[in-house]
Amino acid sequence: MVDTRNMPPEVQQVMTFYGQNYELIVDLEMPRQGAKRLIRPMGTPRICRFCKGAEPGTTFQSNAHTVPECVGNGTVLSPDECDDCNKRLSGAEDDFAKFTMPDRTFGKIPGKRGVPKIKSSTDAIILQIKEKTGALHIQTDHAKKATKVNREERRLTVTVPLQSYRPLGVYKALLKMAISVLPDDDLSSFDEALCWLRSDGVTQNVALPRVGLGCYRTIEASRRNDPYVLLLLRRRQLTTMAPYATFILSFGHWTYQIFLPSPKRDAHLEGQRFDIWAFPTRDIAKPMSPGHWATTEWVDFHSPLLRRVDQREFDLRYDSLTRLSPGPE
Ligand SMILES: [Zn+2]
Repeated sequence: MVDTRNMPPEVQQVMTFYGQNYELIVDLEMPRQGAKRLIRPMGTPRICRFCKGAEPGTTFQSNAHTVPECVGNGTVLSPDECDDCNKRLSGAEDDFAKFTMPDRTFGKIPGKRGVPKIKSSTDAIILQIKEKTGALHIQTDHAKKATKVNREERRLTVTVPLQSYRPLGVYKALLKMAISVLPDDDLSSFDEALCWLRSDGVTQNVALPRVGLGCYRTIEASRRNDPYVLLLLRRRQLTTMAPYATFILSFGHWTYQIFLPSPKRDAHLEGQRFDIWAFPTRDIAKPMSPGHWATTEWVDFHSPLLRRVDQREFDLRYDSLTRLSPGPE
């Protein structure tokens, strides 16, 4: 039980909202390294939870990661994701990987090939984490003014080049992760989501959550070390004015939260107004202590079109800054 007495009233309100209305049905803290394990026992024959295809007609040769390797999952596999579904959903997972790339670099999240290196197409800026020291190494062309330093406050602003991604693909990838960890007995609440996940591309048979196709993205001052965390919360009562289920993925400094589409379970929310808040992460729950802060924003994912945002500014605080080769200030 969390002690909410020292929290600001608005945080208490959100904690109470989730505590009263939701039960935690999946809580997984997963190590990045170690022996591979299955998220649930392997059935005989194996049946795909997405397309319902069964062995031997349907094949299960590939290692289907329950959440993508890029967020640090090297160990947890889904025994009930067939090769066809694994391949079909890889496009959306690619959108997710591109969208989260700077988060994973700054959060020092190692994927299959280490912490991702970010570089612009012209190599005007290259950002990478040095393996031995864990330091962020920035190579930049000063003419482009990609970095700004505030030595008094020990702050560094970096303009980071981004890769293009489809916002709707990012949502679809998060939904796939949520459905992958869902207990078997609740799959029937998500027929529309399963139909979307069985469809090619991102625009066929889109399942709409009542709160919209988007997510809460929270960034916290403190970095989550190994492991990353997955949570799935389900509404306790049939008629509470809140979405049926919500999925939360935390890694590094970041937390992503989506609300799952379930027209069957959320029929009573149709045309109604209701309040919803981001799930309180560790730093939201501890904003009174020094050094803890968190900011949350709603990110819209409804567009299926390739989003070509060139760059995003990141405001970093540093302990020490070393200029490796002299250049103009
Ligand atoms: Zn399948």
